Amino acid sequence: MMQFKGKSVYKGIALGPVMVLKGREEQVQRREIEDAEVEIEMLKSAIAQAQAQLEKVYDAALQKIGESGSAIFKVHQMMLEAEDYWSAIHDRIRTEKVNAAYAVAVTGDSVAEMFEKMEDEYMRARAADIKDISGRLIHILEGSRDIDWSSMEPSIIVADDLSPSETVQMDREKILALVTVHGSPNSHSAILARMMNIPALVDIPLNLEEIHTGMLAVVDGFKGEVTFEPDEELCADARAKSREEEKTRRLLESLKGKESVTADGRKISLYANVGSLSDIDYALQNDAEGIGLFRSEFLYLGRESFPTEEEQFQVYKQAAQMMAGKQVVIRTLDIGADKQADAFALVREENPAMGYRGIRICLKQPDVFKTQLRALWRAAAFGDIAILYPMIVSVDEIHKIYEIIQAVEKELEAAGIFYKRPKQGIMVETPAAVMVSDELAQLVDFFSIGTNDLTQYTLAMDRQNGKLDEFYDSHHKAVLRMIRMTVENAHKHGKRVGICGELGADLDLTGEFIRMGVDELSVVPSMILQIRKAVREMNV
Ligand code: PEP
Ligand code: MG
Repeated sequence: MMQFKGKSVYKGIALGPVMVLKGREEQVQRREIEDAEVEIEMLKSAIAQAQAQLEKVYDAALQKIGESGSAIFKVHQMMLEAEDYWSAIHDRIRTEKVNAAYAVAVTGDSVAEMFEKMEDEYMRARAADIKDISGRLIHILEGSRDIDWSSMEPSIIVADDLSPSETVQMDREKILALVTVHGSPNSHSAILARMMNIPALVDIPLNLEEIHTGMLAVVDGFKGEVTFEPDEELCADARAKSREEEKTRRLLESLKGKESVTADGRKISLYANVGSLSDIDYALQNDAEGIGLFRSEFLYLGRESFPTEEEQFQVYKQAAQMMAGKQVVIRTLDIGADKQADAFALVREENPAMGYRGIRICLKQPDVFKTQLRALWRAAAFGDIAILYPMIVSVDEIHKIYEIIQAVEKELEAAGIFYKRPKQGIMVETPAAVMVSDELAQLVDFFSIGTNDLTQYTLAMDRQNGKLDEFYDSHHKAVLRMIRMTVENAHKHGKRVGICGELGADLDLTGEFIRMGVDELSVVPSMILQIRKAVREMNV
């Protein structure tokens, strides 16, 4: 047995023969040319052919994975049309007197390298798209042949890397799993694998020379592990797991597109919690009716400087566009406690969960807060964006936030920048907010109950401390009464209220929450269909 561990892109189990895709790197020859204009004409014709191919790939993808997953091929078409891209290739052909294919390869590599160096993980992953369009042009210019996926036996594909167009052109029925040596979980190939529910692993440190087509392998997407030449015990285990998985999958799949409504007619909204753009694909794949909590602080983590307004605007705008008109609730940054961001240079505190965090930081550092608000206000013009303020304890904080908002709107107007004010919501995650929820409800558009923090503050127990597990009762009456009180106060003033803490995904409480009148549950994407199933089977 040969076992390798890497990053899991889509959780699932597969067992079957391997098909190795080798030598997929284009070896482009550099040739000196006489007439640059002839090469440029060839390039123009290749771009036109590539556009036609991409139109077909888009249509095929639309059938397989729907509009949001296919959109990348429209983006590829736009990239091909981008003047910066083709004029750089023209320049290279003219100045270096080289053949078009070589100019495409070198320009593609340098643009891809530029993307790879960007700080934003999402932008870094776009390098694969540049390589994909350049590879397509080279294929056309060099007359190379596309791989015939249709003649393939159902297999586990093992490759150095896969481009988005290769991934989407695969016949889903023939692909048991994907395993690549390179690639990132945020690449479009990874996103497409998730959309097509293909168990997939990336960043697997294997030597392709040691793996052969026809070898048997087991892919375990839960453990992020692939085993070549597995023993009989592992094979039997994989078979049993994949039978179970298939049964559940079919059952849940049939609930996509259905309403989240109880047998006696109470409808609730089932939204997804996400921390990045790539998580939105999980949300869509699991038929989320919206995004109920986008934890924006993840944009601030793992880096030394603050994300710029433009960077944030692009992310929020893209989130709204990916959800195509469905609501996206973005929480303003909730740094502090367990989420430490270098850029804030926070000093160590005795009691960080009760310290300088969430909205407290935003009110003390209004410049950082305003940058995020400007990005959100601008992005709100592109879809249904709402925002949530974390760690609220008082009415006074809301008034202070509204003063800052007014200043932001004035600045945007003065600069002639188009914006829309998003709906204003707050996290109810402190006992104080619950106790004054009657007053808070009059000042905001909606509530979202953060049961993770609400439980730790109500029980006075650190949510991170494993030693307290036996005492940490998340179904404690005190917490449930707080939720009930918040719902009643929100409804008294005609405001909607959701739950976005982990408790929202607790199937033992789904019925109770609906009976309390909770309007929305926002949960980890993989729980959406299971909750919908439970909701549809219950009477309240
Ligand atoms: C919560 O506290 O319940 C919540 C959703 O926020 P976080 O888990 O990010 O603190
Ligand atoms: Mg919280």
